[in-house]
Amino acid sequence: MTALALSSLSREELRRWLEGRGHPAYRADQIRRHLLRAGEGGFASMSDLPLQLRTELEESAVWSSLEVLAATIADRGLTEKLLLRTEAGHEVEAVMITHPAWDGSRGRRTVCVSSQAGCAIGCVFCATGRLGLRANLTAAEIVDQVLEAARRWDAASVGRPTNVVLMGMGEPLQNYHQVVLAIHLLHEWGISPRQVVLSTSGLVPEILRLAEEGLGVRLAISLHATHDELRDRLVPINRRFPIASLLDAARKYSAASGRRVTLEYVLIRGVNDDPGAARRLGQMAASVHGHVNLIPMNPIPGSDLRAPSAAACRDFAALVGPRATIRHSRGDRATAACGQLRASLTPEPRRQERILARELALVESPSGPPA
Ligand code: SF4
Repeated sequence: MTALALSSLSREELRRWLEGRGHPAYRADQIRRHLLRAGEGGFASMSDLPLQLRTELEESAVWSSLEVLAATIADRGLTEKLLLRTEAGHEVEAVMITHPAWDGSRGRRTVCVSSQAGCAIGCVFCATGRLGLRANLTAAEIVDQVLEAARRWDAASVGRPTNVVLMGMGEPLQNYHQVVLAIHLLHEWGISPRQVVLSTSGLVPEILRLAEEGLGVRLAISLHATHDELRDRLVPINRRFPIASLLDAARKYSAASGRRVTLEYVLIRGVNDDPGAARRLGQMAASVHGHVNLIPMNPIPGSDLRAPSAAACRDFAALVGPRATIRHSRGDRATAACGQLRASLTPEPRRQERILARELALVESPSGPPA
């Protein structure tokens, strides 16, 4: 029988679970406080709980649904990348990012979490896409990434997580139910849905469903191309949901949620960094009243795709206009780009071959916009 992950329960569900075993409901808050504290080593260390309850917890529940395999620190301690393993043996990553208080602004602590082990979408510039989909994560496994980060920040006395971005491994909207459940659970850990950013490759029906959900999470759309011929090759889901339908969904999401949508655009040298693309991107951002994040591509092993020079990125941003910001992927210096901590995981060979063939075609004949 699979042990109960405490992070899968809301506060009320944990209270009921305890009462069902003859324990007072207030123990739920005690247990939940322990889950956030540094230096906690499991149920045995919860010395303010009666021995009988600790024994019952040991027998029927797990302290965390994830095991930490490795932690890598970068950016002079401001970024920490965690390699984690689920009970089923799947490896996933989370990145802890500290934004110090600056010029009157309050500091933020953001956890970038994975929603799947691997990913089925297969974007050509992404290491995770080369793994294929290994598993959907449960809501508890998503929440436990944040609780692990909370304990580490608590150990460093820097405070609780303030923001969560669903930008790690996986396409969150392909794991819709568990992701929405995790967003609800995270609210009880002090992270409001408005402090959550969900990044999607563009699953139009699920974007519209999320709009109806009324959660108010911020939506980030991985656009990466300004015409369908190129986007079909970079982000294959575009063949099902082309750019026009995606921008239409973005407008509807923005109207329903009252949140500005972000268009993400990985800059790849010689592929999507021409001046025409910059101008079209600026127009698209204006059409959805959104903002553009330009992300110079992180190199991935076995791939020839590279970022443009820093000067070329600045020129591109200037052409996009005031809606554009250049963002460097934090966590890249923790190892390299998304998905690269899992050096022990090998890409699925036939999938890797297919993606490399698409990449080769991109480099040899980058497609221009339709005439
Ligand atoms: S960029 Fe995101 S959606 Fe695309 S393959 Fe990577 S993890 Fe999947």
